[in-house]
Amino acid sequence: MKPKSIFSNWNTFEQRVLSRGGLAIGLDFDGTLAAIVKDPGKAAMSARTRKALESLAEVCVRRPLAARRGRSAGSGGGLTLLAVISGRSLPDVRRLVKIPGIVCSGNHGLEIDGPGIKFRHRKGLALSKPLGRMARRLSRAMRNYPGCGVNNKRFSISVHYRNARPSDMPGIRRAVRLQALAASRVRGQAGTEAPFRILEGKKVYEIRPRLRWDKGDAFETLLRRFGRGRLPVFIGDDTVDEGAFRKTVQMGGVAIRVQASGESRAPYYLSRQSSVCVLLERILALTRRF
Ligand SMILES: [Mg+2]
Repeated sequence: MKPKSIFSNWNTFEQRVLSRGGLAIGLDFDGTLAAIVKDPGKAAMSARTRKALESLAEVCVRRPLAARRGRSAGSGGGLTLLAVISGRSLPDVRRLVKIPGIVCSGNHGLEIDGPGIKFRHRKGLALSKPLGRMARRLSRAMRNYPGCGVNNKRFSISVHYRNARPSDMPGIRRAVRLQALAASRVRGQAGTEAPFRILEGKKVYEIRPRLRWDKGDAFETLLRRFGRGRLPVFIGDDTVDEGAFRKTVQMGGVAIRVQASGESRAPYYLSRQSSVCVLLERILALTRRF
């Protein structure tokens, strides 16, 4: 089905939020809350987006914890969860968000920290040592390719190639495949199946443990705890957000993809990243009706 503009369908959205007594929001960071920049270390939210998010967090924090845990479906349920779920490491997400009351999740949901929750995926944690070794080998291999950066995120590795020379791409791809395969083989001999997989995001290779866990599972975990009964809303921009879109739709919620290009599980779209703050402001106005 062709995705529809969330703004053109605002009345329907509003009705869905009101009929569920409020909403629970999950957001991606890069390309969603912050514009994509050349150097991922320099990504940041705009002042307007930060302000909207801070105001939303206040609405979320003001509510008593018992109600946030879904025990009370009474009044004031405008917003029961505000979570940023990113592919970055958790410390990185916390540093970039830095707003009290917001749940932060890193490594595509493998680690979560926030008011009333601390979660680490156990199998993911067990694979952090071989991942560290792989990151060191990859860093050595990438020295041959200027403009490439390797980021060990403890639960996964990112190889950024936004600034790499196009002629180096086949070499970079080969090196990433080789290292992921080598690490998988060593683990394979120990009696486990190949535990790592490579995913392609926007100008980045992600090497992740082959676990049945993505942003969608993290969002579902958070919804069960903080969003029971409320309308789940997930906003993301990338193929790595599709798991969360699928789960959100399955749970009767609203999935919105920023700058949708090609196939997506999200039934709604926002045409550009800079519209995310407008959406947050409109949601904020909506929460005032509870
Ligand atoms: Mg993104």
